[in-house]
Amino acid sequence: MNQQIFKVYTNRQLDKIEALQKIPQDMLFSMQVVANVLPFRVNNYVINELIDWNNIPDDPIFQLVFPQQSMLEQTSYERMASLLKQNPAPQLVKKLATELRAELNPHPAGQMDLNVPSLNNEPVKGIQHKYKETVLFFPSQGQVCHSYCTFCFRWAQFVGDKNLRFASHEIDQLHTYLKTHTEVSDILFTGGDPMVMKTKNLRPYLETLLSPELSHVQTIRIGTKALTFWPYRFVTDDDADELLELLEKLVKSGKHVAIMAHYNHWRELEPPIAHEAIRRIRNTGAEIRSQGPLLAHINDDHKVWAKLWREQVKLGIIPYYMFVERDTGACNYFEIPLAKAWEIYRQAIQKVSGLARTARGPSMSAGPGKVEIQGVTEIQGEKVFVLRFIQGRNPEWVQKPFFAKYDPKATWLNHLEPAFGEKQFFFEKQ
Ligand SMILES: *Cc1c(COP(=O)(O)O)cnc(C)c1O
Ligand code: SF4
Repeated sequence: MNQQIFKVYTNRQLDKIEALQKIPQDMLFSMQVVANVLPFRVNNYVINELIDWNNIPDDPIFQLVFPQQSMLEQTSYERMASLLKQNPAPQLVKKLATELRAELNPHPAGQMDLNVPSLNNEPVKGIQHKYKETVLFFPSQGQVCHSYCTFCFRWAQFVGDKNLRFASHEIDQLHTYLKTHTEVSDILFTGGDPMVMKTKNLRPYLETLLSPELSHVQTIRIGTKALTFWPYRFVTDDDADELLELLEKLVKSGKHVAIMAHYNHWRELEPPIAHEAIRRIRNTGAEIRSQGPLLAHINDDHKVWAKLWREQVKLGIIPYYMFVERDTGACNYFEIPLAKAWEIYRQAIQKVSGLARTARGPSMSAGPGKVEIQGVTEIQGEKVFVLRFIQGRNPEWVQKPFFAKYDPKATWLNHLEPAFGEKQFFFEKQ
């Protein structure tokens, strides 16, 4: 297979994208307005292989990467639009963008500041430890992606100044932290996308986990959307073979290696190069598990999810999580009421075999933990949501069913109230 050259376009280069040269000027302008507030980045593979240009703007992958006017509130949109029409100095655009972003809840559930542990009384940058058995690690060079999703809950980190210096002390800190935390069985490398890193840069992070001192770390998970955004990473990139050898080495050393692949639509699984990438990863002995949010305009249809999970099982991928879109960024554009999310989940699950029913959800990653909507029912005349913690800040909460008043409009945990006249949910009492 021929090597593919990665070509990327960012917010100031929308007008350079050939496929966009046929669309009406006002549509292009509206995309430029939004791309000055929310992150935008798209590469040649997504443009040429994933988007059906005869179906825009409705095409799900077009919606997944290209900004749309209604992703901003009307007043925000109009302020940026009228500024841009005056041919403004760049610092004016930057100033307004910063102001508009601040209104979009850039750091939901205390993303970057909570759950950061300390070592010798200093915060350890790049580590989050919220649930006892799993540590999240953000390698500094893996904090971008091959393209950006319009709904990304980590969007705020893509619009600031990025510090992508190679930090070898990061590896030492990670090692030291894990050594003293023998309760940790899983490490999850996340970002951005750690798979944007060159193999030679990723290697020391992963190989340090093979030290006998860290034998309690049994599972190495790597969160990525590279199987969708740049499958060549695993097939024709210069260091693709080296990457696969590295994964194989981890597996042969006795680690469980799980690629946590972010998918939103079965379309992402169609190109032959995506199949080849999946096949090559699975050949190393690593598993691929899939997760992704439920989103209006992209996948708010049980048929899309049923087909997505079915295709995944066919390709040897294990469905893992369906998430509820978080309350940040363009969430007004993408959000789905919890009641509808549960309906979509249920109808999709009914259509697939048991092997695809490993997908749990719809799940909200909120402050107290991951809360799953298990169903809607009536108990003693009151219509309620049945909920449970899949993960809890306190492990005692996990799997305990609890109830919230039914609310057809609620889209997030903080909209819900306890059922049966209770004043607080059980976990709020602690
Ligand atoms: C989801 C998540 C994990 C992993 O949880 P699992 O249920 O083991 O998949 C770990 N840390 C954080 C902060 C998470 O949101
Ligand atoms: S791949 Fe993940 S981190 Fe990257 S833009 Fe999409 S949602 Fe955000």
